[in-house]
Amino acid sequence: MLADLRSDTVTRPDLPMLNAMMAAPTGDDVFGEDPTVNALQERLAALFNHEAALFCPSGTMTNQIAINVHTRPGDEVLCDRLSHIYNYEGGGIARNSGASVRLVNGDCGRFTTADIEGEINPPDSHYARTSMVSVEDTCNKGGGSVYRPDVLRSLSVFARSRGLAFHLDGARVFNALAVNQCDPSDYGKLFDSISVCLSKGLGTPAGSVLIGNRDFIREAHRTRKVLGGGMRQAGILAGAALYALDHRLPSLLDDHRRAMEIATTIQPLPWVSRVMPVETNIVIVELVGGITSEQLCATLKAESVLALPFGPDKVRFVTHYDFGELQLAHFKAVATQITVTV
Ligand SMILES: *Cc1c(COP(=O)(O)O)cnc(C)c1O
Repeated sequence: MLADLRSDTVTRPDLPMLNAMMAAPTGDDVFGEDPTVNALQERLAALFNHEAALFCPSGTMTNQIAINVHTRPGDEVLCDRLSHIYNYEGGGIARNSGASVRLVNGDCGRFTTADIEGEINPPDSHYARTSMVSVEDTCNKGGGSVYRPDVLRSLSVFARSRGLAFHLDGARVFNALAVNQCDPSDYGKLFDSISVCLSKGLGTPAGSVLIGNRDFIREAHRTRKVLGGGMRQAGILAGAALYALDHRLPSLLDDHRRAMEIATTIQPLPWVSRVMPVETNIVIVELVGGITSEQLCATLKAESVLALPFGPDKVRFVTHYDFGELQLAHFKAVATQITVTV
């Protein structure tokens, strides 16, 4: 028995998903002729109340395309210091778009209108032009934290009143929606662009979708080309995504419940200093002084439990479709038995 909690990207397509992929009609998507890709794009655009969408290989690419379309070189992007676009995209904001970043100190990756009101540069030519605000819902480095809808509404009104593009890194947006139980159409309208990953909680092999209005997506198409993200018979991947949208959304709540069980199991253990609040499928634990994340992960790995070192003294566990009740039982048995000493 292996319990792989490193990421929700480790899932492998099961037989029904593979069958959906095999049955998907395909065409050359660079020519716009893949019917399954087109259906997926239309479905997600409609779901989030936008005009258009674009299928891309990864969530890094959909975020980077959005930044590229919303900014000009020298502009400034406002985001939380924990955000994926800043921490985990290879410095792409500067490298791909020549833009700089102003970091916000939010609460577990979430910030409010009050946090950014004073952070917008004046139009004066001394300053970098602030051109976009990016939020992450749920926030990975924030322990899977979820934004309250009223906070997002306020940020959206504020961004629009200041002429700023409002982007959502929604790699795990379906986890956020499962918690809020809010209407994706009302939620989607708040943003100028949305990046959605299909390879995380939905468990497909690859793919992300960028959503926005027609003009935005036309420009996004051009940037996708430049970044080398055009794929041909991508319908085999889009077919997995359509299948997942039909069948996998309810399982996200099971992922959240199992993450909560992991948190309650490890909370009292001697190697645990603090567990970050668990809201979705991510559990980040701070280890007691002297125990390193490498050491804990090696000890767990020897018992067939895989976790991810998240800095020198933190470890991340992520639940997903391939982590079921049997894996949870295995995790609990191992976590409560191991000895990790300073
Ligand atoms: C995974 C992830 C992405 C995109 O990652 P890819 O591996 O490039 O698909 C973007 N933002 C967040 C918050 C993520 O967790």
